[in-house]
Amino acid sequence: MDEQVASRRSARIQAAGPFHLLIDFLNRSDYDTRRREPGVLDFTFGDPHEMQQPGYVDAIREAAVPLDELWFAYKQSEEPAQTAAAASLRRVVPLAWSGEDLRMTTGGFGAITVTMKALADPGDEVVYSLPPWFLYEALALEAGLVPVKVPARPPRFDLDLDAIAAALTPRTRIVVVNTPNNPTGRVYPPEALTALAELLEEASARFGRRIWIVSDEPYNRLVFDGLTFHSPAEFYAHTVICYSYGKTLLAPGQRLGYVAVPPGLPGHDELLDAIETMQIAGGWLFPNAVMQYAVPHLEALSVDVAGLAAKRDRLVMALREMGYEVTSPEGTFYLWPRSPIADDEAFVATLARLGVLVMPGALFETPGWFRICLTATVESVEAALPHFAAALDEVGAGTAGQAERSPLGTSL
Ligand code: PMP
Repeated sequence: MDEQVASRRSARIQAAGPFHLLIDFLNRSDYDTRRREPGVLDFTFGDPHEMQQPGYVDAIREAAVPLDELWFAYKQSEEPAQTAAAASLRRVVPLAWSGEDLRMTTGGFGAITVTMKALADPGDEVVYSLPPWFLYEALALEAGLVPVKVPARPPRFDLDLDAIAAALTPRTRIVVVNTPNNPTGRVYPPEALTALAELLEEASARFGRRIWIVSDEPYNRLVFDGLTFHSPAEFYAHTVICYSYGKTLLAPGQRLGYVAVPPGLPGHDELLDAIETMQIAGGWLFPNAVMQYAVPHLEALSVDVAGLAAKRDRLVMALREMGYEVTSPEGTFYLWPRSPIADDEAFVATLARLGVLVMPGALFETPGWFRICLTATVESVEAALPHFAAALDEVGAGTAGQAERSPLGTSL
């Protein structure tokens, strides 16, 4: 008798590079063993480090009080949530969004998985740039899709449009674009998105099959220095936007997000039906009723973006002075410095010994770099600075050795 317990599909996902590295990091690393030690400074995941703002708690508390007997009945997408979310999206992505264009989901994860499954069939290819959000691969594999990865161009990690063009095949169905980008902090300029749209239009015509953009943009409100965010949806009609409230509200444990299909798109209603079908068939992937009732209030709230920018400025300036190479992120809440030694995992271990937890580039399939999360407190940022300097010295790349190491410390 075949006693195999776990499905081959689950085994394939578990074995995938980014997935098992992430699980090891969560369960068998310094992050797992040390993050709660007193004095240890945690710059890993985009989690809150301070008490949630009162307005957020009030909105959920109010939404939890039933006003009728159907308050906690089965919910798909609640119309007031869709309408409030669409009004807010109109301010960020200038299209004529209405609630009808949106379906509420269990965060960005839920939005991406149902969009992939609504658009693509098993065997279809999904193209994305490295370094990626580390769970694209798991979501693609679970949907039976074939991940096709294209490195972005360091040190600013712009999209490599020639490489993307070369990666497209008749089986390409989706190109995932993540702007503002986790982990690089890059906000892609309109020129890059226009060029991407042109090449996808041309390739779709050449292959005789539409290639879609899945625009993963949970950080589209977290942009610094007055920069204007641009969504691929402004440049390429066949774009589906996936959004999560987990970043803007810094509450990723309360699952809430949406999929938005541009108004007027041919196949608009059919695609939304397909998305809703995959929400149901995927295991009722709708946010809980209470979270949906809270949306109109939650849409008025945000993390302190100026505070994030201040932490970014402090860290970027201090790290550069020490001799790190780091591009100042234009959005998100991440910094993506180059590891001062080629082995980013060894460098991350050095920092961990000093009490500072960050994520190695290996987790993002981009060795030689590492990620620092800015959701840590101002006090943690200040406390970590001497440790970042000490780590450089420990690996022999401190300021003493900088004169001959010219690329480090340049104002990239
Ligand atoms: N996409 C990106 C780029 C992300 O960074 C994240 C969260 N880290 C997600 C999607 C998923 O967001 P959520 O957990 O809020 O669903």
